Amino acid sequence: MFNEERRLAAPIRWGMVGGGRGSEIGHAHRAGAARDGLFQLVAGAFDLDVERGREFGGNLGVDSARCYANYQAMFEAEPQREDGIQAVSIATPNGTHFAISKAALDAGLHVICEKPLTFTVAESEQLKQLAQQKNRVFAVMYGYSGFPMLHQAREMIKRGDLGEVRIINMQFAHGFHNTAVEEHSPGAKWRMNPEISGPTYVLGDLGTHTFHMAQMLTGLEVDELCCMRQSFIASRSPLEDNANVMMKFKGGAVGTLWASSVNAGSMHQQKIRVIGEKASIEWWDEQPNQLRYEGQGQPAQVLERGMGYLYGDDPGVCSRIGGGHAEGFFESWANLYHRYALAMDAANRDDTEALAGIWYPSVDDGIQGVRLLESCVESADSHSKWVKFD
Ligand code: NAD
Repeated sequence: MFNEERRLAAPIRWGMVGGGRGSEIGHAHRAGAARDGLFQLVAGAFDLDVERGREFGGNLGVDSARCYANYQAMFEAEPQREDGIQAVSIATPNGTHFAISKAALDAGLHVICEKPLTFTVAESEQLKQLAQQKNRVFAVMYGYSGFPMLHQAREMIKRGDLGEVRIINMQFAHGFHNTAVEEHSPGAKWRMNPEISGPTYVLGDLGTHTFHMAQMLTGLEVDELCCMRQSFIASRSPLEDNANVMMKFKGGAVGTLWASSVNAGSMHQQKIRVIGEKASIEWWDEQPNQLRYEGQGQPAQVLERGMGYLYGDDPGVCSRIGGGHAEGFFESWANLYHRYALAMDAANRDDTEALAGIWYPSVDDGIQGVRLLESCVESADSHSKWVKFD
């Protein structure tokens, strides 16, 4: 069970870029970071609209002098303060991630950036190098990867409970954009604009999450893939609102990924099924407290979070309450922010051994997500030819 007594010597002084009033994901960052008292929000450039951002920051309890007009002003002023921020989360639309992350690293900050990390692999690699040079933690917010039952699944696969992995089915297919909602929804509109969203829509917005899940659970590396993508709402072209990807992994396993926002009637339907030579597991993000385990020739089992028969908690990701009480999305984010804090603390103390032992979605995972997008676009836009992943 989660130990809430675990504390750092002091909370990490933390700022945000983006995530302003009405944004989709800003609150999830703040709720995740605040949950265990390991981060303290002390500064922000929350909004493109400067006055709205200032007012919003003030309402969150941030000193008005530290609610900045833009990220450049924040990264210039904060390092000059003795109590300046040590870490920043970037919760702005995709097209800004590279410039803001680079500026944050240049200012000596640990970074937690939203996905998809950048438009190109080259940009993501540049950020990785800079983070290494500066000895800073660079995390990517694959927010589902903090769910305890996914960590149970990872451990089961590692221990060989499924036998060798043969097939991975991934899908993240909601139905909320089955009509041209972007005509009245600003949050949908930027996602379908290549200048802001990047070279993909649903592949980057949705597919990167489930792809990361597959990487996290199995560690398998993609060898080659082939992708087909469509814009069922024609005005979204060249960006896709539906995509299907076939993958061959090194070592012989295969997989499919379906990403869609036109799956009419579906709420989320993010699901992963990993099929091994003797058993399969399946997890749905709409029922995150359960993990289905199906051994060939045996009755299917539903494993429940918080039960003694699960493999032990690993540091930082734990059940926060006993089984039967539902945990959810915000707990997953809190589990990740907890890990980020432990990693940042270890990096601050130059404790490389401790740092190496803390799992969290890192810049490497961000790079793989962007690599997925580059490869899918290359394939889909060349009549779905098979392309090498690296
Ligand atoms: P949004 O449009 O709802 O909100 C964006 C916020 O950023 C707004 O407050 C806007 O004013 C602010 N902003 C934009 N540019 C800025 C800049 N240069 N400086 C300061 N503030 C700026 O967007 P959203 O849906 O919250 O998405 C933001 C990012 O989060 C995207 O990259 C998206 O892919 C990602 N996202 C991730 C998840 C997840 O589960 N991890 C979920 C939703 C969105």
